[in-house]
Amino acid sequence: MLKRFILNLPLGYKLNGIMVSIAALTLMLVSVAYFVHQHQVVRQQATIELATLSQIYSDTSTAALAFDDKDGANDLLASLAAKPTIRAASVLNRHGDIFARYLASGVPQSLLSSFLPNADPVESAAQIKRDLFHLKTPITLDHETIGTFLIVADFSDVRATQRRFILFLGVLFSLALMISTFLSSRLQRHITLPIHNLTTTMGTVSESNDFSLRVQSSTTDEVGQLCLGFNAMLERIEQQATLLQSQKENLHFLATHDALTGLPNRTLLYDRLHKGLTRARRNNTELAVMFIDLDRFKNINDTMGHDIGDLLLKAVASRLKEAVREDDTVARFGGDEFVILLDSVKMEAIEYVITKVTRAVKMPIELQQRQVVITPSIGLASFPQHGAIPDELIKYADVAMYHAKNSGRDTAQRYFPEMTSKIHARFNLENKLHTALARNEFTIHYQPQFELRTRKICSCEALLRWQVDGKDISPVEFIPIAEDNGLIVPIGRWVLQQACHQAMLWQRPNQPPIKIAVNVSARQFFASDLIIDVEKALKDSGLPPSCLELEITETMIMTDIEKAISVMDRISAMGVEIAMDDFGTGYSSLSYLKRFPLSKLKIDRSFVRDVLHDEDDAAITRAVVSMALALNIDVLAEGIETEGQLEFFHALNCRYGQGYLLARPIPAEQLTALLNQISN
Ligand code: C2E
Ligand code: MG
Ligand code: MG
Repeated sequence: MLKRFILNLPLGYKLNGIMVSIAALTLMLVSVAYFVHQHQVVRQQATIELATLSQIYSDTSTAALAFDDKDGANDLLASLAAKPTIRAASVLNRHGDIFARYLASGVPQSLLSSFLPNADPVESAAQIKRDLFHLKTPITLDHETIGTFLIVADFSDVRATQRRFILFLGVLFSLALMISTFLSSRLQRHITLPIHNLTTTMGTVSESNDFSLRVQSSTTDEVGQLCLGFNAMLERIEQQATLLQSQKENLHFLATHDALTGLPNRTLLYDRLHKGLTRARRNNTELAVMFIDLDRFKNINDTMGHDIGDLLLKAVASRLKEAVREDDTVARFGGDEFVILLDSVKMEAIEYVITKVTRAVKMPIELQQRQVVITPSIGLASFPQHGAIPDELIKYADVAMYHAKNSGRDTAQRYFPEMTSKIHARFNLENKLHTALARNEFTIHYQPQFELRTRKICSCEALLRWQVDGKDISPVEFIPIAEDNGLIVPIGRWVLQQACHQAMLWQRPNQPPIKIAVNVSARQFFASDLIIDVEKALKDSGLPPSCLELEITETMIMTDIEKAISVMDRISAMGVEIAMDDFGTGYSSLSYLKRFPLSKLKIDRSFVRDVLHDEDDAAITRAVVSMALALNIDVLAEGIETEGQLEFFHALNCRYGQGYLLARPIPAEQLTALLNQISN
C-alpha cells in the first residue's frame, strides 16, 4: 500500500524524498559519531583533570598522614572548596578509615561513607555513580601504601554540557534538513522540469492533436535528449499529418471537382444548389440554374481530336467562370455540359447574364494555331417559379436546353411546362428515326432552281422527306436529331446515292446538264468518309462530278475553318461544286469567303422575305450580291415567293433563284414530267 503510494508519487516528490532522506541519514550518522567522540573527549578530560588533582592531593597529604597531622590534612582538603565540581574528598588511612575529609556545602556525610565499604586502595579506576564520579589514589611513602585519597566529583555539569551539545546538534540537524529540503526541491526542478514539460506537452498534443507544439529543453543530458527525440518524433508526425491533410484535401477536391477543367462536379453542384435553395427560401430571394450544352462539340472531338476537344472544354470553362460573379457556381455536368448556378439573382438580370455567357463562349478560340468557334445552347430554370428542389431545377433547365437545341441551337430558352411534353415527342421521334432507313420511310423531293434571266431550270435541290404513320415530319425537326445521334451519316449517304442516280436519269443529250444540289450536314462534312461516299455515289450513278453540288452552311464551316477549307479543297478537286447555304444567318467573316472554293452562295430566305420592306436587309443583300460577283461566285436567292422579290434579285444581277413562286419541292416523278414537258 505504502510502496504503491510512494511509487505513484510525482517524480519531483520522489527525488526530494530520496535526497532529503540521504541528507538526513548522513547528518544523523555524522552527528552521532561526533557526539560519541565529543562525549569521550569530555569525559576523558574530566577524568584526567580529576586524576591529576587526586594525584596532587594524595602526594601532598602523604606527610600529613605519615605524621598523623589530621588538621594539616583537613586544611589541605579544605582548599578543594575552590573547585565547585568536587563534592567530597577524604584521606583514608591504611585501614580504610577516614583520616581527614572534605564535604562541599550541603553534601551529607553519607555520600562519603557510600564509597568506603568498597574502597579499594589499590584500584584507582574511575566509576560513575549517578552523576557522581569518584577516584581512589593510593598514598605511598617509599613505595609503601600508607593510605588512600578518595575524591568524589560531580560530573552533572559535563552532562549538562552534553545535553546542550545534543540540543545544538538537533537544531543544526533540523536546519541542515530544512536547507537540504529547500536545495533539493530547487535542484530537482532542473531534472524534473523538462520531464514535467514533456508530459504536459504530451498531454496537450494528445488532447488537441496539435503536432506543431514542441517541448522546451535547454539541456543535453538524457532528459534533454529525450525531449529532442520527442520533438523529432512530433516533427515527423506533423509532416505526416500535413501530408495526410493535403492528401485528404486533394481527395476531397478530386471527389468534388472535375479533373479536366477543375470546375465543381455534379456532387458539389448539387450540394451548393441545395444550400443555395435553403438560403433563397430563408431570404425570400430568387435563384437560377443555367444548363449549357456546346453545339456540335462532338464534331470537334471527332474531327480535331480529343486533345483539342479537351483544350476547348478548358477554355470554355475558364470563360464561363469569368463571365459570372465569383459567388456563382460554374460546374461541369458531364461531357460538353456545364451548369451555372446563379445565387440570389434578380430575374431582370438573367437576360444580361445569358448575353454575357453566350458572348463569352462564342468568341473565337485559338487552339494549337487553329481558330475554333463554338456556340452554346442554354436552358434556364429558376426558383421559385419552376421548382424548389435541386433535381427538379436541373431537370427543367436541361429540358429547356434541349428545347434550345431543337430550335436551331445557339439560343437560350427559359423553361415552361409544355416543354416536357415536347421533349417526350422528340424522344419518340428519335426512337423511330433509328429504323426509318431500314423501313424505307424516307423519300426525296426535288426543288428546281432557276436561272432568273431565262426562268429555265438549271438545277434542283434534293430535300429529304420523312413520313411517320402517314404524317410528314419536317427535316427542320428530324435532321438535328439525326445529327446529334450520328444517324445523319448513313441517311446522308443514302440521299447522296439516290440524288445522284436520279440526277443521272434527268440528263438529256444535247440539253444543258441538270445539276443536283445535295445538303450536307456538319457531322457528315467532317466525317472521314464523306469523300469516299461522294466518289462512290458518282461512280455508281455515272453522274459527272460537275453535275453535283454540295450545300454546306456557314455555321458548320466556322467550327473549324482550317479543316473545312481542306475538305472543301478536296471536294472541289474532284470537280464537285460547293454552295454555301443559308448565307447571312451565320457568323462567317467575309474575309474568309475568298479562301473558300465556292461556286455558289445561297442568300437565306429570311433576307429574301423582307428585302422589299426592310431597308437594312435590302442593303445587306445588295452588298452580299456585289461582293460575291466580285469574287466570281454565283448567287442564288432562296425562298422567292413573289414577283417583286424575283425582280429585285434579277435587277441586282443575281443569277439564280429558288422558291415557291417558281416551283415547290416535288417528288422525282413530277419533276421528270416537268422536265420532259419543258424539253418537248
Ligand atoms: P435548305 O437547305 O435551306 O432548304 C431549303 C428549304 O426552304 C426547304 O425546306 C424548302 O422546302 C424551303 N423553301 C424553298 N422555297 C421556299 C419558299 O419559297 N418559301 C418557304 N417558306 N420555304 C421554301 P425543307 O425541305 O423543309 O428543308 C429544310 C432544311 O432541312 C433544309 O434547308 C436543309 O437544311 C435541311 N435538309 C433537307 N434535306 C436535307 C438532307 O438531305 N440532308 C441534310 N443534311 N439536310 C437537309
Ligand atoms: Mg439547302
Ligand atoms: Mg437554305
